Amino acid sequence: MNTLRTIATTFKAKDVLEGAGVRLRRGFSNVEAKQFDPFLLFDDFSSTIPEHYLAGFPWHPHRGMETVTYILDGAVRHKDSLGNEGVIESGAIQWMTAGRGIIHEEMPESAHGIRGFQLWVNLPKKEKMSPPRYQDLAGATVPEIALGPDARTRVIAGEIGGVMGPLKSVAGNPLYIDVTLESNGTVSIPVPPGHTAFAYIVEGALGTDSSEPTLYAPGTILLFTREGDTLVLRTGSSGARFLIIAGAPLNEPIAWHGPIVMNTDEELREAFRELQEGTFIRVG
Ligand code: MN
Repeated sequence: MNTLRTIATTFKAKDVLEGAGVRLRRGFSNVEAKQFDPFLLFDDFSSTIPEHYLAGFPWHPHRGMETVTYILDGAVRHKDSLGNEGVIESGAIQWMTAGRGIIHEEMPESAHGIRGFQLWVNLPKKEKMSPPRYQDLAGATVPEIALGPDARTRVIAGEIGGVMGPLKSVAGNPLYIDVTLESNGTVSIPVPPGHTAFAYIVEGALGTDSSEPTLYAPGTILLFTREGDTLVLRTGSSGARFLIIAGAPLNEPIAWHGPIVMNTDEELREAFRELQEGTFIRVG
């Protein structure tokens, strides 16, 4: 017997200026992070206007967390202090586990608009100082499967419908899927009880089961209650494309400043001291 989850809260992504002057929409960040544990932040940097994104995100550090970049259209060139360099292209995902630290730059470079998202995932205390790790998942490695009669989904991370996404084990066994649901369609998505789960609406209009009449617009986050094991989502005449992201909460203290997320203020101070002294990046 499935237990349906209901919407706990909805959030409308807000315009913010980030990096060297990128205009993006932020779904949630430090104010709401406790409700989204283990997720810290969600940004939608989609834009049709190159001046909104070309300034990019020049050299900056990360420690104690992961950044997950998913590109629908366009490209982001990246480079880092460990010598990694590449381009995240349409359909591709970069799951970057900063661990004890990297310094990198992320530069959108599409001349004709971009569609993409960045999610920040917290690391558990025991993995905050682990060696940095990249998983660059090309679009062709992401399986696309039918999810019932009305929906198709790209499986980026986790397992759904018996299909595993290409992401290799990371903390919290996250689920990250990109679902396209046709008009007047319904889809059921299993999520482990207790895991945080939210939807981000990319296109169209999306609601939950028919007991809830509202359909929500693109740029809305639907945060679900943690009780229950099934999300039911439905569309009206326009259909919808949306992301479903879920993961196990850490329930650990958060000490967060900018791109560094630790457990205590002392660990934060140490990170910024190391940045100043040039010892932030540890070799070997
Ligand atoms: Mn970054």
